[in-house]
Amino acid sequence: MSAVPTRASMNVPLLDLKAQYADIRADVDAAVRSVMESARFIGGPEVSSLEEEVARYSQSAHGIACASGTDALLLSLWALGVGPGDEVITSAYSFFASAGTIANHGATPVFVDIDPRTYNLDPHRLEAAFTPRTKAVMAVHLFGQCADMTAIRAICDQHRVFLIEDAAQAIGSEWEGRRAGSMSDFGCFSFFPSKNLGGAGDGGMIVTQNPEHAEKLRLLREHGARPKYYHSVVGTNSRLDALQAAILRVKLRHLDRWSEARARNAALYDPLFEGSRVARPYHDPRARHIYNQYAIRVAKRDELRKHLSERGIGTEIYYPVPLHLQKCFAMLGHRAGDMPQSEAAANETLALPIYPELSEDQIRYVAASVREFTDL
Ligand SMILES: *Cc1c(COP(=O)(O)O)cnc(C)c1O
Repeated sequence: MSAVPTRASMNVPLLDLKAQYADIRADVDAAVRSVMESARFIGGPEVSSLEEEVARYSQSAHGIACASGTDALLLSLWALGVGPGDEVITSAYSFFASAGTIANHGATPVFVDIDPRTYNLDPHRLEAAFTPRTKAVMAVHLFGQCADMTAIRAICDQHRVFLIEDAAQAIGSEWEGRRAGSMSDFGCFSFFPSKNLGGAGDGGMIVTQNPEHAEKLRLLREHGARPKYYHSVVGTNSRLDALQAAILRVKLRHLDRWSEARARNAALYDPLFEGSRVARPYHDPRARHIYNQYAIRVAKRDELRKHLSERGIGTEIYYPVPLHLQKCFAMLGHRAGDMPQSEAAANETLALPIYPELSEDQIRYVAASVREFTDL
């Protein structure tokens, strides 16, 4: 093996969207110019084509674009009529929106601890969370790997409750050959710039197999108006811009290549941590992992993060506080110790750079810099 590159030559950001743009600049610029010249900024063919393409990509019958991943979750819960007095079960270890959108509707998020290997909702703990008030379950596919949808689906079917997939980090990932978003009543995607399919701003989409749910979502995202100015239900404005749709359509053509490059980078990292104190991400053989994040687990995580920052390496903590311990949910009465696996993950995980354009030298530099600290 050649020498590990030194600090002077290396700077590894957590994500490098400039490198991605450089790779696809001509197509993105042409797509933007075409929308500008068409002057159709809301709705129109770019949005409807993206809806069809993402639905097809996600093995789903319908796609409903909206303003963000958060709105995708919000609209899905709305379409189910989730409201005060209802409970929605979700993972205690996720981005805030998974629980925040439940609370936005006046419903109560009920948290379930995670499987410590995958960081996803542990189906063995799901059954105990049901009550007569349970209206739905929201499974989260964290870091780009699907939750155990076979087990979760079976439990939801048995209780006859709706199932939502928060697939914001998981577009194109699979569980037993089935794509994220297609295994539930509502599959919710985010096009936030740092997701595997990211726009030049906010955006989101819901996919569903059910035409009635699709129709309801379309109504809700446009103030319940059909026809225009005749309102049968109260909705909101949650649309995706044509400019975002046009950019996302260009990027969707590269998504599989990028997700494969992320998986290849993960396969480069893995052996470099062999025999170290670093716990590597677990890849369930039943899943296609798209590595939205490559999260390692270490003791002294915060010190390691500082060490890497001094070596020019960008990292992030997803997420430092599990949802049941967030201040805004204090009224739920949770205490430290209630969800031990989520709490341990919040204390020990660190996301390393995994973006597709990383070079092998950069990966070796990151791994060597991690081990410089953890091997001590
Ligand atoms: C990014 C994300 C969201 C929210 O998506 P936005 O587009 O930022 O609103 C929801 N859930 C998870 C798990 C996410 O990672």
